[in-house]
Amino acid sequence: MTDINSNDLMSLCKRRGFIWPSFELYGGVAGMYDYGPLGCALRNNIVEMWRSIYKGREGFVEIDSETVNPREVLAASGHVENFADFITYCKQCNAPYRADHMVKGFYENPDILTPKELEEAFVKHNIRCPACGGELGEVGEFNLMFRTNIGPGSARVGYLRPETAQGIFVNYQNLYRYNREKLPMGVIQTGRSYRNEIAPRQGMIRMREFNQMEVELFVDPEDKDWAKFPEIENETLDLIPNTTLELTTMTVKEAVEKGVIANRVLAYFVYTTKQLLTSLGIDAKRLRFREHEKDEMAHYAADCWDAEVLLSYGWTEIVGIADRGSWDLSRHAQFSGADLTHLKRFDEPREMEVEKIAAKHKALGPAFKGKAKAIAAAMESMTPSDVKDGKLAVKVDGEEITLTEEYFEVVKRVEKVAGVRVVPHVIEPSHGLDRIFYSVLEHAYDSKDDYTVLRFAPAVAPIKVGIFPLMEKDGLDDKAKEIYEKVHTHRMEAYYDGSGTIGKRYARMDEVGTPWCITVDYQTLQDGTVTIRDRDTTDQKRIPADSASAVLEELLAGRSFSSL
Ligand code: AMP
Repeated sequence: MTDINSNDLMSLCKRRGFIWPSFELYGGVAGMYDYGPLGCALRNNIVEMWRSIYKGREGFVEIDSETVNPREVLAASGHVENFADFITYCKQCNAPYRADHMVKGFYENPDILTPKELEEAFVKHNIRCPACGGELGEVGEFNLMFRTNIGPGSARVGYLRPETAQGIFVNYQNLYRYNREKLPMGVIQTGRSYRNEIAPRQGMIRMREFNQMEVELFVDPEDKDWAKFPEIENETLDLIPNTTLELTTMTVKEAVEKGVIANRVLAYFVYTTKQLLTSLGIDAKRLRFREHEKDEMAHYAADCWDAEVLLSYGWTEIVGIADRGSWDLSRHAQFSGADLTHLKRFDEPREMEVEKIAAKHKALGPAFKGKAKAIAAAMESMTPSDVKDGKLAVKVDGEEITLTEEYFEVVKRVEKVAGVRVVPHVIEPSHGLDRIFYSVLEHAYDSKDDYTVLRFAPAVAPIKVGIFPLMEKDGLDDKAKEIYEKVHTHRMEAYYDGSGTIGKRYARMDEVGTPWCITVDYQTLQDGTVTIRDRDTTDQKRIPADSASAVLEELLAGRSFSSL
């Protein structure tokens, strides 16, 4: 825990237009928040920073897919069957609770307990309904997805997506074609996800509608290296491996060589996550990477790490970085019947024994007459994996013909082949945008003796510069407005403020994290200079009013204030 009071911060956020509880006019809905003007600007800046790393530095591509998904997609991903939390209801007042949350404090890892173990824990530790003291009932499963219908009636069941990742997996073929059938292939997506959390709490940490920034990197299963790895191999990470459960600091290179992080590409993106978070203003001393414990890790994952930050709520997961193996594409291939593989080309075509489908012409001719030739031709491009329960479905002129083994056989032939087909593995850095947003706020929050400063990194600060006339008279206001017009762009958001004392105006800007303020005073009218003030040092310098835009650009690009 930290000594920051999250209620104070949330009330600042509400008062100054960062975030507002949604639908407050109608009493509000738990786990839902709207972003106000400053919140939108801050959030967009975070997204831009993420884009600049993944799209800019790494050259990944971005897509935007639907948020309403048909059932088939989420059945393939496993969400229809498994995306559930354990729920219990108070036997007396019927209030719902997340069962594992009720036993926190008694167990290290309550989310691995079975329903029976949870029920026993209620009795053993005399855990009762926090609202009325009643007994807690049976523990059951509650699927977290919001269900809906696509089209009128219940013709097609759909769900609001619980993660953005599936939209990337179902577009694999389109993306692979776009990427000219090459790996590695990195794809990013940001947007809304929905989880009908049983008990949303801790403000923006557990929301029912939230924002994700997900990255899916498709790699050759036998090539889990990354060309830029040597550039960062000597940087350090604070890691909690699942073998020791103890915090250790080591270089990225050591982490891979000692087998702490499974491979170089995963380690590279764990470090990339640290780079992103610290450049957003997350304090490196309050950031660590925790490896999922064996019973916490998805069965298909080769390795999985959570970026955790220390917040007033305790250590909190804000990003998950996983090597998901071939799970996602294999499942969608299995459920859709589509080919979601990568052709790993040999340098030269090789002669290899391959299994093929061959037509039994003697049976095919008499049975299918004029169509027999077309059916045999269609079989040429099919493989033994197309045979399902001993039958082969062939499409001829739009008609599907199901053939039994009377009409085809699997034969071995030596052929020249261009390469082998492999199912790509997926490395996934999955960012919770709202959690990152909130963490950036907490780590920037500095409040002493009723004076609050949000010490945002300039790149994420929603307003970059406050522009003030000393007085709103004698032409000072006109000059300040003129500077505002010149400086203000959507990247360099400026805020004109002419009311109250200068001290009050600085305080208002400090409270929303504005890194610099420019003041037009009487000297401006004589020599054309203005003062520029730095938020963190409160130092002031005089610069020519004409150079304000250029100076601000330089400061934003990293020039130190003291060098002005
Ligand atoms: P997951 O798919 O559960 O690993 O989630 C990916 C990321 O989304 C996590 O690291 C969280 O930062 C974020 N996240 C998950 N659930 C929520 C939620 N209910 N509210 C806000 N953020 C969430």
